[in-house]
Amino acid sequence: MKFKEIYNFFKSTGTKNVDFLYRDGNHDKLPYGKASFDSNEYGTWLQGLVDIYLKDKNPIKIRILDDYIRRSIKEGAGITDFGIVVIDTDGTITKNDTLKSNFSRADRFSEQLNIKTHELVDVFKSEEFALSHMLQRPTSEKCKTCQELYVCGGGMPLHRWSAKSEYNNPSVYCRDQLHIINHIRAKLQHILNENINASLSKNRSCN
Ligand code: SF4
Repeated sequence: MKFKEIYNFFKSTGTKNVDFLYRDGNHDKLPYGKASFDSNEYGTWLQGLVDIYLKDKNPIKIRILDDYIRRSIKEGAGITDFGIVVIDTDGTITKNDTLKSNFSRADRFSEQLNIKTHELVDVFKSEEFALSHMLQRPTSEKCKTCQELYVCGGGMPLHRWSAKSEYNNPSVYCRDQLHIINHIRAKLQHILNENINASLSKNRSCN
């Protein structure tokens, strides 16, 4: 299904908010539909969504695009500092569960933690939690010196993984993120210019 049909479908349901998620994957196991680190399939798809979204005078909210345009409310875009733990239905406490797509038990603390036997506050005070929390910020030189770091944030930690250098990589979606950020910026600049020109010609016709 194309982005236009998908967008119109969600609008027709009357929903106020939708989100589009990048598929799980990393540098060793590329996400579904991505040919290589340098390919740009997700960015190209999102570009079409941006065009229809910004043209709509009464759009539904799309979290991933709003996170690039305004301020991030979820990990994966912008400079975020979320401390994430997950509590499973049996009470097991884990780190960010998205990490488990990288390798077995990547989301587990070294000790078996459970909400029935452990205090969350002690988990938050632990060194292991602090290390997992620090993963929010990218460590690769490429990200640290990237002019889009403030908008991209290095993507989600799981997308940075490789067995060779662990999380010390840019996101496997780096090219997609750069593409979509540049596209949004160009579109917004275009809209701004149009508005300025419209306002100038209105003022001229009034004088
Ligand atoms: S993942 Fe790529 S675009 Fe994002 S901050 Fe790192 S280098 Fe920049």
